[in-house]
Amino acid sequence: MKTIAIIGAGPAGIEAASILAAKEETEILLFEKSASTLDNLRDKAFLFPDFSAADDLVEILEAKLNRDNIKLLSGKEVKSVTEQDGGWQLQDAEGTSYTADAVLMTTGYKVFDAHRKEELGYGIYPGVITSIDMEKKIKEGKILNAVGDTPKKIVFLQCVGSRDEKSGNHYCSKVCCVTAVKQAIELRKLLPEVETYIFYMDLRMWGGGFEEMYRESQEKYGVRYVRGRISEAASTYDGKIQIKSEDTLVGLPLKMSADLLVLMVGMEPSCGTKELTKQCGCSDAYGFATTTNPHVRDNETSQPGLFVAGSCKRPMSINDTLNDARSAAVKIAEFLK
Ligand code: SF4
Repeated sequence: MKTIAIIGAGPAGIEAASILAAKEETEILLFEKSASTLDNLRDKAFLFPDFSAADDLVEILEAKLNRDNIKLLSGKEVKSVTEQDGGWQLQDAEGTSYTADAVLMTTGYKVFDAHRKEELGYGIYPGVITSIDMEKKIKEGKILNAVGDTPKKIVFLQCVGSRDEKSGNHYCSKVCCVTAVKQAIELRKLLPEVETYIFYMDLRMWGGGFEEMYRESQEKYGVRYVRGRISEAASTYDGKIQIKSEDTLVGLPLKMSADLLVLMVGMEPSCGTKELTKQCGCSDAYGFATTTNPHVRDNETSQPGLFVAGSCKRPMSINDTLNDARSAAVKIAEFLK
C-alpha cells in the first residue's frame, strides 16, 4: 500500500486525489485546514470563458471525493512536512503525526488585502469593493450601491496588488484582466442600463476565448476601457466614489464619479503556502513554490517525493490549476513506481 498526502482540498488537491486514487493499493490523505472544501470556488458565480456556473464545477469536483481510499481530513492544518527514512512525516496543528510515501502540496493562494492600498478607500468608503465582493453580489443577483440603490455607473480598476512596486508584488496575477471583462459583461446582462468602465495598464487576455470575450464586451455589451491607473478615490456627500486618474492614451487628467469602484485584487501565496514552502526550502521571493524545471519538471521540487501543483506555484486560472494537478498526479505515479 502506498500513501500519498495531499495538502489542500481545493480544485488541484481534489483533482490529483481522484486520479491517484484510481490506482490500486493506494491511499490518499487529503488535508484541508477549513471545515469545508473548495471555499474560493464556492464564492464564484460564473467561470470564464464560457460563463458556466461555478456551482456545477463544485458538484463535479465533490463527486470525485466519493472513493473509499480518499480520506478527507477537514479542519486539519498541516504545520510541518519533513523527510524521514526515504518517506515523509507530516504533523497537523494538534500535533498528530502522519506518514506518507509522497507529498503533494496544493495549498493555493489568498487574495491581496485591498486595505493595503489606503489611497483607494477600501474599508473606508462602502462604495469601494473588491472583485471578490462583486462576484458574491453577482451570484446573489443583487447589485446595489452604497446607499441601497441600483448603480448607474461602475468602474473597475485593474492590477490592485499586482505589478505594483508599493505592495511588493511585481508579478502579474494573470486572471484579473479576464475576470474584470467577465464581471462587466455579467453586470450589463443583469443591469442593461448600467455604464461599466475598466481602467487598465495592459489587458492580458492570454487564454483560449479570452480575446473574443474582450471584443464582445465592447461590441455587444458596450463596456468602455480607459488606459490609466486610478491614483485616488474619495467619497462624495451622496455616497458616490470620486476617482482621479490620467487617461494615458490621450495624456490628460481625468476625474469621474461612480456608484461602485471595484478593485481587481491579485493573488498572493496563502499563509499555508508561505509557511510550507519556506520550511521545505522551495520558496521564491514571494513565498510561492519553486519547481526544478519550468518546462519538464514543473511539479517536482528539489526534494524527491515532494510535489507541488496549482496556484501555490504562481497565479493560475482554475482550468490551468486542474491541468497542473493532472500533470502532478502523473509525476507522483511515476515516482512511486
Ligand atoms: S491579469 Fe491584468 S489586472 Fe491582473 S495583474 Fe495582470 S495585467 Fe494586472
